[in-house]
Amino acid sequence: MQACVVHPAGELRVEQRSPVRPGPGQVTVAVAYGGICGSDLHYYRHGRVGDFTVREPMVLGHEVVGHVAAVGPDADGPTDGPTGGQPQGQAQGQTQGQTAGPAVGTPVAVHPATPCDRCPDCAAGRRNICADARYLGSAARMPHVQGGFAQLVTVPAAQIRALPPELGLRRAVLAEPLSVALHAVHRAGDVSGKRVLVTGAGPIGCLVTAVLRHKGAAEIVVSDLLDTPLGIAAASGATATVRADAPGDGAWTDPFDLAIEASGAPAGLRSCVERVRRGGAVVLLGLLPPGEVPLLGNLAVTRELELRGAFRFDAEFDEAIALLAQGLPVDAIVTHTFPLAEARAAFDIAHDRTVASKVLLDLARA
Ligand SMILES: [Zn+2]
Ligand SMILES: [Zn+2]
Repeated sequence: MQACVVHPAGELRVEQRSPVRPGPGQVTVAVAYGGICGSDLHYYRHGRVGDFTVREPMVLGHEVVGHVAAVGPDADGPTDGPTGGQPQGQAQGQTQGQTAGPAVGTPVAVHPATPCDRCPDCAAGRRNICADARYLGSAARMPHVQGGFAQLVTVPAAQIRALPPELGLRRAVLAEPLSVALHAVHRAGDVSGKRVLVTGAGPIGCLVTAVLRHKGAAEIVVSDLLDTPLGIAAASGATATVRADAPGDGAWTDPFDLAIEASGAPAGLRSCVERVRRGGAVVLLGLLPPGEVPLLGNLAVTRELELRGAFRFDAEFDEAIALLAQGLPVDAIVTHTFPLAEARAAFDIAHDRTVASKVLLDLARA
């Protein structure tokens, strides 16, 4: 199979890889679409994301959808291909009478995380911050977890979700970044009736905007340095958009109840801390540059601001699929689609924020 691999020097290649056969409890997915994330771009351009550095060749990608291609010997559901032939109904570790997992051919989305389910964070229901989680296409641990920009990807059956019939694959590929946005809004608490600032109108900022609108925020002001992403934010539900380099007044200067930092830039964090009212909250979602970043700490003290991190997601994945099936207005976010063979061109376009927001790889057209 073909896969999109980043090498430690930051080189990106589409190369031949051997598919992994599904073992017990695993499923192989024939990937249809993969969404290029900011973290994929960072691995490609800088060889690192935050404090995670590429130390060995790694298949990129954690936003993937496709069809079930094969089911491992002990996973529920029909078997297929080289590993078939195991009798059904004798799966170990499965609840008796549990319904079968998605059958071969079923369109599915892949949840990229496998938490350990043993640590105190997992036990407390905060599986997204499990220190021992595996995440597709992540260099956080060694060996790296190979990602989903491959024609076939093998994952635990518990990580796949069958898509509702009204949700097509091309829209479903937003389930992962939408889950990230949902988690950030959950971290903010009740947003209904609130005046909210979102800094950064990239795909995540725009998905946060759509979620805020859906959950009843009264005003959603989105800031960015570029007009193209701000236009997409407006289409995703922003009530006002602001050029951060020429903010003017009105929408920008009145204090906000809440701010969600989705740019990953220290200037975005500064705007959030400056613009939130006394007693307000700032959710830090964008990964900032590695190491220390400046913070208007005295404002956080004297205004009693709450600074809350938001990292990945857990059960939000199912909510994201349901919202996409219901028609959440996010279609403007997908701007380009490239065949896998043109992955490098896709990554280069994705880096150009004057034209691109979410860029997809079409892996069925490799
Ligand atoms: Zn992502
Ligand atoms: Zn854990």
